[in-house]
Amino acid sequence: MSRILIVEDEESIADLEKDYLELAGFEVQVENNGKDGLKAALSGEFDLLILDLMLPEVDGFEICRQVREKQDIPILMVTAKKDEIDKIRGLGLMADDYITKPFSPSELVARVKVHLARYEHLVGAGQKQNDIIEIRGLKIDKTARRVWVDGEEKTFTTKEFDLLTFLAENPNHVFSKDELFRRIWNMDSVGEIATVTVHIKKIREKIEYDSSNPQYIETIWGVGYRFKI
Ligand code: CA
Repeated sequence: MSRILIVEDEESIADLEKDYLELAGFEVQVENNGKDGLKAALSGEFDLLILDLMLPEVDGFEICRQVREKQDIPILMVTAKKDEIDKIRGLGLMADDYITKPFSPSELVARVKVHLARYEHLVGAGQKQNDIIEIRGLKIDKTARRVWVDGEEKTFTTKEFDLLTFLAENPNHVFSKDELFRRIWNMDSVGEIATVTVHIKKIREKIEYDSSNPQYIETIWGVGYRFKI
């Protein structure tokens, strides 16, 4: 669950933001002055900050500047006046988004979700910890169980995914339908091997340009299937 810090001296606004964000499933902490807000913001415990610009003691500008030196997390800046946005942009303040009061709480929630998703995506791309198979235009993320064909994500059922991954991990090896059925469905059955044919057909529709002339999964007549590499 993502944790959000709100630094806002107008308590009614802070409460409204908190209610909506909690309803959306976030864990929220509120600080009502800049000094406590700065301390909390620098704690490293939050995934996103919502900072009011005008605050007692330490303003939102200063909090944003100090957090940016230490952490790369989304920062949403809230201002009472529209012309302040141009001013703070002109100062090179590195906030991710600017919201003018009054704003709708659901708009705030939507923006929070967008920024969190964008950061998660960036962090995910940087870590490269997922187990990925890439063969020409086909990319299989085994960890996330996701598949892309020429950069476009395709949806697979569990068994389709398992079958595709198994074949792609064992390229240039011919497997009979019986063998594939036993390996993917873990059953010693002979009556259900048509299931394999059906799944291969579905997979081809998603990964091949031309299912009748497959570039990835070849049919070896009378034997079974082979993943071409
Ligand atoms: Ca204020």
